[in-house]
Amino acid sequence: MGKSHAQAHIMMVAFPMQGHVIPLLELAQVLATHGIRTTFVNTDMVHDRVVNSLAGESLVGFVSVPDGLEPHERYVPGKLTEAVYTILPGKVQALIREINDGEDRHIKVSCLVYDQSIGSLHQVARDTGIRSVAFLPAAAALLVLGLHIPQLLRDGIIDDQVAGNPLDSSPLQLAPTMPIVNPTHFVWHTVRNTTLQKLILDVMRQNNHSINSADWVICNSARDLEPGASTLAPQITFVGPLLASNRLADSAGQFYQHDKDSLEWLDQQPPSSVIYVSFGSYAILGPAQFQKLALGLELTNRPFLWVVRPDAMPEVGKPEFPNGFLERTKSQGRIVGWANQQKVLSHPSVACFVSHCGWNSTLESVSNGVPMLCWPCYADQFINQSYICDIWRVGLQLGRDNGVIFPFDEIKEKIDRVVGDEELKGRALQLKEVMGHGAREGGTSYQNLKNFITWLHE
Ligand code: UDP
Repeated sequence: MGKSHAQAHIMMVAFPMQGHVIPLLELAQVLATHGIRTTFVNTDMVHDRVVNSLAGESLVGFVSVPDGLEPHERYVPGKLTEAVYTILPGKVQALIREINDGEDRHIKVSCLVYDQSIGSLHQVARDTGIRSVAFLPAAAALLVLGLHIPQLLRDGIIDDQVAGNPLDSSPLQLAPTMPIVNPTHFVWHTVRNTTLQKLILDVMRQNNHSINSADWVICNSARDLEPGASTLAPQITFVGPLLASNRLADSAGQFYQHDKDSLEWLDQQPPSSVIYVSFGSYAILGPAQFQKLALGLELTNRPFLWVVRPDAMPEVGKPEFPNGFLERTKSQGRIVGWANQQKVLSHPSVACFVSHCGWNSTLESVSNGVPMLCWPCYADQFINQSYICDIWRVGLQLGRDNGVIFPFDEIKEKIDRVVGDEELKGRALQLKEVMGHGAREGGTSYQNLKNFITWLHE
């Protein structure tokens, strides 16, 4: 007898934040359409929102587990990361055991695919005797940075005493075509709280273990985007961009309801005219900066579609626009609480994306040939900004540093420059071609994904 032909069953666990759930769920949908049974594990906090985001029947199955936190604790910086790292493994292990030790009515779980930022799940796969796959929803460059932490400590670029504080302020590039990053913008150092900084550094170091021992490390990026990172971390398999458009489907897993009329509004705007503005699911601007952005957009005199999440201004409750702004820009712009961003960025009316440079936003922009104005806030967003501005040269950065308030005339001037720069636009369109090629039959990401699926079926 040859190998058993039982249906493969994988369990997938995302970090319960928007930018992590969307790409892993996208992968789940792809795998499910290839006949793989997928069970997607959410924490209770996000479960209903994820399930409600799906239109109609889903091939992906869902289960939900508690994260062990009291509601108020979720707002304490670092608590969610800690809980996910320490509590989730036990819950996931119990789920796998329940299925695999149970009667034969379930197909046994043969593989655990987990968000790379929860490296503690690698041990669960090992303890339950199943395969282990780490999924990276960020740039491979982020993982390369994590793998280099011991070297950064040895070389005296960061210190070990105060949680990786930079000791050297020279910009660092680990290899040609890698982002050029100032050590003050290393992921852990972009948060203000030292305890959180230490937690991020420790978690990144611990995750290196799973990276070096997982059966596969798959990344939602393309090798053509990151050749340097691909050389420095050959254990990474590039399968991105994982976008719903590759499946001719609508993106799933969104925590918020998107505005239904944005696309129709875009239809009414001239080609390549609209400034799309979004800071993703989590980043916030202070009230003063928010007002400057509003005035800068108004001053461009260009149509704009601006995502202002209802929670965009926690200090003052609801977002506060400058006096008279909403009235004056009624026919110029559209402000929405959440957009169908993947669709918006593929619309021909969009000329420029003012973005916080989250990795998903970056991939979505690059895949659609939309030049960017970069406004990173924290985490890996500075790494992504460097890719966009220094390496791929498909965008401009707003300022050299964070923490300052950008004046409205500078915002307007930079938007004008992005929209008017034909070379930027040309490079963005070239990169779109490269990305499309990689994701289509014969392309690297396409082939890698195919190989991965074959392995899952074995
Ligand atoms: N997104 C969306 N509508 C919005 C804002 C964001 O659909 O109005 C999606 C966006 O397409 C992306 C994700 O939310 O897939 C945000 O991920 P990203 O990595 O860009 O940023 P994060 O939210 O993790 O900071």
